Amino acid sequence: MKKTYKVGIVGFGGQGYSHSKTIAEIENIEVGGIFDIADARIDFAREKGFHAYKSYDEMLSDPEIDIITVATPNDSHHPLTVAALRAGKHVVCEKPAAMNSDELADMIRVANECGRIFTVHQNRRYDADFRVMKKIYDEGELGPVHRFERRVQGCNGIPKDWRSQPEFGGGMMLDWGVHLLDQTLQLIPEKIKKVYCRLEHVTNELCDDGVTVWLTFESGLLAVVEVATSNFIELPHWYMLGRDGSAIIRGWKANDGEIVKSVGEAGEVEPVLTASGITKTMAPRREDTIKRMELPTVETDLRDFYRNVMTTIEGKTEQAISNDSVMRVFKLMEAAFRSAELNETVDFE
Ligand code: NAD
Repeated sequence: MKKTYKVGIVGFGGQGYSHSKTIAEIENIEVGGIFDIADARIDFAREKGFHAYKSYDEMLSDPEIDIITVATPNDSHHPLTVAALRAGKHVVCEKPAAMNSDELADMIRVANECGRIFTVHQNRRYDADFRVMKKIYDEGELGPVHRFERRVQGCNGIPKDWRSQPEFGGGMMLDWGVHLLDQTLQLIPEKIKKVYCRLEHVTNELCDDGVTVWLTFESGLLAVVEVATSNFIELPHWYMLGRDGSAIIRGWKANDGEIVKSVGEAGEVEPVLTASGITKTMAPRREDTIKRMELPTVETDLRDFYRNVMTTIEGKTEQAISNDSVMRVFKLMEAAFRSAELNETVDFE
């Protein structure tokens, strides 16, 4: 392994700074410098002890820099990535990789042409809650799964910065939708047959401030993926239903949930008295016919993302976040946008 990889970070806002903190905790890699168009962010970077370049070109022409991490608003990912690749650098690009699949295809093409690694920071594949749900699915804990729901919901409206302006690639589909769809596609290894999408404009007319996507997979499994910014009461982040049981993660913490499984026939149940009659169908299961289980635990480490970038550069591993998988999510988002515009279900794959 090369002694120390040096990363140049372009865009030192919230996420650029976050990359610098992650990199500081990884062996054999360090931040070589940053570039940002905002003087305040340059000052902040210097305060944190980083070298600040005067221009992006200056950073790209520094032979000490091996990898450029692109952490600017979405509209600039394509030009900044292409320039870095052409300057002979490897590129880690923030999500969403680009504004659309054409830009993404161009970035992949240029990376191949230049023989450099181009990879997208789909970091939420390293999140513990995702890994817990994936483990439950992979181990068949719930029997055949017929429904999967994945949500993040807030009530602050869409942020008033570039995220609410279409020309910068604003909107919640590109912001959070890309994460949740990516996780869903990683979790369910099936073809998607149908896509239906509804975009919300509760607090912003120009950019979607909420997204719901319904995906019908080849087996008939339905996935509901939702991003919302006007929900004062939240639904669970993860909810999975199988023939033999259900699993839930309620919020941001990977252990905030449970699995409930059937361990026998439902049998006779005590009817529930409802407002205008009784129901046996909806009565709770007898406790002796179900098993309540804690969620499994998983080991995960976000630092493995950059570790994989380094070993991939050295030809020792495959890229953890394959460009094909990123492209599939882009095609899916485009199908979802098409569905929302037509207000119709569209075919996919
Ligand atoms: P931000 O507004 O906090 O920071 C963006 C920074 O980029 C600003 O400091 C701005 O001055 C700078 N900038 C803009 N154009 C530039 C250019 N051409 N050259 C150099 N600097 C430029 O935004 P953020 O929240 O840090 O988001 C940045 C990117 O990171 C977005 O693509 C976003 O989707 C992504 N992001 C990813 C995650 C994640 O979990 N993967 C989380 C947050 C943000």
